[in-house]
Amino acid sequence: MIEISEPAAMRAEAESLRAQGKRIGFVPTMGYLHEGHLALVRASMASCHATVASIFVNPTQFGPSEDFDRYPRDIDRDRRLLESEGVDILFAPTRDELYPPGFSTEVRVNGITENLCGGRRPNFLPGVTLIVSKLFHIVKPHAAFFGQKDYQQCATIQRMVRDLDFGIEVRMEPTVREPDGLAMSSRNKYLTSEERRNATGLVRALARANRAYLAGERSGTKLRTILTDALCEVPGLRIDYTEVVEGETLQTAETFQSPAVALVAAFLGETRLIDNHILGEPLPYEV
Ligand code: AMP
Repeated sequence: MIEISEPAAMRAEAESLRAQGKRIGFVPTMGYLHEGHLALVRASMASCHATVASIFVNPTQFGPSEDFDRYPRDIDRDRRLLESEGVDILFAPTRDELYPPGFSTEVRVNGITENLCGGRRPNFLPGVTLIVSKLFHIVKPHAAFFGQKDYQQCATIQRMVRDLDFGIEVRMEPTVREPDGLAMSSRNKYLTSEERRNATGLVRALARANRAYLAGERSGTKLRTILTDALCEVPGLRIDYTEVVEGETLQTAETFQSPAVALVAAFLGETRLIDNHILGEPLPYEV
């Protein structure tokens, strides 16, 4: 595995791979890797000649009172994990290389970023579309791999890539879960053991809504109430939002033309967790 920190060197390497006719797969991350990230790496390895993974804790996507400073970091462990997966290039730029003094450009997608996490964390999606645009220009991938765990993020990137003609295939890969159903996340590390036990409340709420959907419930309002009621039963959990939206438009709906997606965000102590499920697909976790 080659490790690169300078954007110019990464760009040169990407151009050389492209000149050799190699299909480049790209997995952008903020590090502190887990099996969810590694599943994206494996999806890239399976369908591309060369895989680039990036690690960059992107300051522009955090709000002033959010966890940028304490976001978990372990580059040595990440390096070993990526190397053992057979990743070709680790791109780990510094903040100054990506955001030099005087940086003043924004990249903003409208229409699908105002609700859900975008509504609660106003810096988040503009920060993501900015950094992902920059990384796409530097890494020059043919395909990029994102997790369904961050459904709105992935949908926003797909929209940006379409609207701005990036010419990159953006793949949404399934959420990887712990054996008890909790969606893997670098932030799970923040949870106390009691919070960790209660954190399965998110997936169990989604499973309850999914069972209702499979039993024929199609009212957005009723499905959302099922999510809210299920989360209210979880000790110590504070709901941030519960939503059931159209999978394509991400708008709240009462009945659904495209797949309905149930999404939840909740705090356990100081830790904010998110999860979602495309209703009708299997999700076998006990309520
Ligand atoms: P992050 O490092 O949290 O910015 O995540 C980097 C990428 O990994 C994003 O595309 C996430 O959606 C994806 N990801 C994070 N957690 C999971 C998970 N549990 N399953 C699948 N993908 C994930």
